[in-house]
Amino acid sequence: MGIKYMEEYRDPEIAGRIADNIRRASKRPIRLMEVCGTHTVSIFRNGIRGMLPKTIALLSGPGCPVCVTTQKEIDTFIRMAGLDEVIIATFGDLMRVPGTSSSLQKQRAEGRDIRMVYAADDALKIARQHPDKKVVFPGVGFETTAPTIAATLLAAREMRLDNFFVFSAHKCVPPALFALMGNQDVRIDGFILPGHVSVIIGTRGYVPFFQKYRVPCVVAGFEPVDILQAIYTLIRQIESGKAELSNDYRRVVTVDGNTKAQQIMKDVFEVRDAAWRGIGTIPESGLKIRATFSDLDAEKMLDFRVPESVEPKGCCCGEILTGRKIPPECPLYQKVCTPEDPVGACMVSSEGTCAAYYRYQGSGIGGQGSGARSRGPGVRDQVSGRERDKSPCTDS
Ligand code: SF4
Repeated sequence: MGIKYMEEYRDPEIAGRIADNIRRASKRPIRLMEVCGTHTVSIFRNGIRGMLPKTIALLSGPGCPVCVTTQKEIDTFIRMAGLDEVIIATFGDLMRVPGTSSSLQKQRAEGRDIRMVYAADDALKIARQHPDKKVVFPGVGFETTAPTIAATLLAAREMRLDNFFVFSAHKCVPPALFALMGNQDVRIDGFILPGHVSVIIGTRGYVPFFQKYRVPCVVAGFEPVDILQAIYTLIRQIESGKAELSNDYRRVVTVDGNTKAQQIMKDVFEVRDAAWRGIGTIPESGLKIRATFSDLDAEKMLDFRVPESVEPKGCCCGEILTGRKIPPECPLYQKVCTPEDPVGACMVSSEGTCAAYYRYQGSGIGGQGSGARSRGPGVRDQVSGRERDKSPCTDS
């Protein structure tokens, strides 16, 4: 892909023209959800909220994998780190997520062997370098990440490694869409579907969801023109009373997706019910390691018990991940929960909604003056209106 080609998707003039079209086409108040955390960040970074008319409220969804990883899963990783001869090899953002009484980062400071890696492959290398240790890689991510982890397990099998294990906490996006639309408290008029996940599962992966709910959906890329074009596509559908499953990211996403990656996933994982932070158990939304790979499955091979997990008091991650609240409505936001000292997972990952709000709208670290800041109160009113009186944040 040439640079000029990409520049077109960042062209302010093109973006401005699409925003004009949106303003002309949008007549009634609607709520659109960008499912993916990368979209959330791009929307803030590019000031897209500030380019939209007040009729359009953008909600952030459950598409940040670290954010939806449950407290119990985090506590499990921490518990495994305490086992003899275990090295935890993990991505950096996972290390900072607070569990019930600690975090991987704190455990490392207390002397546990926890290493930050940039790819699952790095964990494999650590296992080869330390045959006397058990190296555990926490498998956190959606369909985008799962094929890579599956390939790592296949490589471990080929290398005959007997000291490399994965704990699979992988989750799948389409079942989460079913759960969102099935929740009576959530009203969403259209979905901006995640580009990266769609590369793997293709538009075909959303067909059962779309056929059941007939809600406007569009697969979108991550540049400002991509996102604005996707919003315009949704507005046109909604205003004309239509619902379609559209693909506005055709330069990367196909109908069938990456069938090779899908096959690797199927070879290594099987579907199971999975709990999502703040959402609860969603049927057939998780991936567990198949019995044929049980010798590489940390769940099967390591002996540990995890005490009962407790959610952080006052944290509204569940409502934020389902679009029922925005971060400023959490009583802890900015006061006691910050990226430097996060209370909930949504403030940890750079793709977390609370972290994105803090960075681009709050008084904290970034504050690039996105449109979101200037529209903050207006967005807040639109988004929260119907639900403002309900406040089921955890124990607050
Ligand atoms: S701001 Fe509130 S909802 Fe967001 S992570 Fe912090 S405590 Fe949880």
